[in-house]
Amino acid sequence: MSDAASNPSLPDEPDPNRRGFEAAGSAVSGSAIRLVIDRKRFRDPPTLALEGIEFVVDPGEFVVIVGPSGAGKTTLLNIVGGLDRDFEGRLDIGPSALSAGSPQASNVRVSNARASNAKERIGYVFQSPRLMPWLNALDNVQLVRPRGGQADRQEALALLEEAGLGGFEDALPAKLSGGMQRRVAIARAFHARPTLLLMDEPFASLDEPLAWRLRECLHDLWRRYRTTVLFVTHDLTEAISLGDRILFFAPRPGRIVYEQAVDLPHPRGSGDPAVSEMRARLLADHPGLLAGGVGKEASPG
Ligand code: ADP
Repeated sequence: MSDAASNPSLPDEPDPNRRGFEAAGSAVSGSAIRLVIDRKRFRDPPTLALEGIEFVVDPGEFVVIVGPSGAGKTTLLNIVGGLDRDFEGRLDIGPSALSAGSPQASNVRVSNARASNAKERIGYVFQSPRLMPWLNALDNVQLVRPRGGQADRQEALALLEEAGLGGFEDALPAKLSGGMQRRVAIARAFHARPTLLLMDEPFASLDEPLAWRLRECLHDLWRRYRTTVLFVTHDLTEAISLGDRILFFAPRPGRIVYEQAVDLPHPRGSGDPAVSEMRARLLADHPGLLAGGVGKEASPG
C-alpha cells in the first residue's frame, strides 16, 4: 500500500531529517538476557522447533536475529517474552543473567521462566501496529501506562514529538498514514519503558524509503533509552544497519549457525557503503548464510 494517508491534508511522512531530541546520554537501562534452549518441541504436529541454543545479550545491546522462514525466530521471541514457557532450558532476564557466567544447559523444563523476571518490563512491536482505532495517537501511546498523570502525558507527547508526530496527537489512526501508525506503535513501545524490547519484522512489507525513516526513528529512540532489543528480520541490510550483533539461524531444527558483530559507526543509512561492504563480504564468505547454510563457525571479527 502507498503510505499516503487516507486524508490527503496530512503529510505523507514527517521531515525525515529532523531530530527531536539531544544525543543520548550514556546511561544503560536495558536488561541482560541469558538464554539456553536445549530443545523446544511442538506437539501437534510434532516439531523440533529449536535445539541447542545458547546466548547472552548485554544490557542495552541491539541484537538482530536473521534466518529463513521456519527457523524458529518467532518461537524464540515468544520464549524470551514469556509467552511460551514450555521448553527445555533456562531463561534469565535482568541482573541474574550476568551473574552466572557462560550459559549452561540445564536439562530442566522451564515452566516459570518469567516468574523470576517479574520486574522486567518486556515490550513487543509486531509487523502490524495494532493501534486501537477509537483512540487518538496520544491515547494509544498512553494506553501502556493507563494510570499515568500529567507527567506521563507530557512524556507521551514528547515521545510522539521524538517519533516525528508532533501535532498529530489528536489524530485517530484512520487519519494517519501507515508509516505514521507504525511510529505511534514504536512511541508506545518506548513509553512503556521496557527494559527489553522484542521486535518481530516491524518494517516488513514497507517501501524502502519509508522503512529507512522508521529505522532511523527506532535507532534514535534506542540510542536515547538504551533498552535491550531483540529484533527479527529476513533482511540482512536492515540487520547490519541496526544491530550491534547478528545471530544467524538455520531451520529444522532452529539453531544459531553464525554470529557477526557489527562494529560500524552510526548513522548507517540507506546506501551506506560500509553496510553494503559488510553484506557483500558475509555473503561472499558464506553464500548460503541467509538460508541457514553454514556450519557453526567463529566470527571472523
Ligand atoms: P520463523 O519465525 O523463523 O518463521 P517459527 O518460530 O514460526 O519460525 O516456526 C519454527 C518451526 O516451528 C516451524 O517448523 C513451524 O512450522 C513450527 N511451529 C511454529 N509454531 C507452531 C505450533 N504452534 N505448533 C506446531 N508447530 C509450530
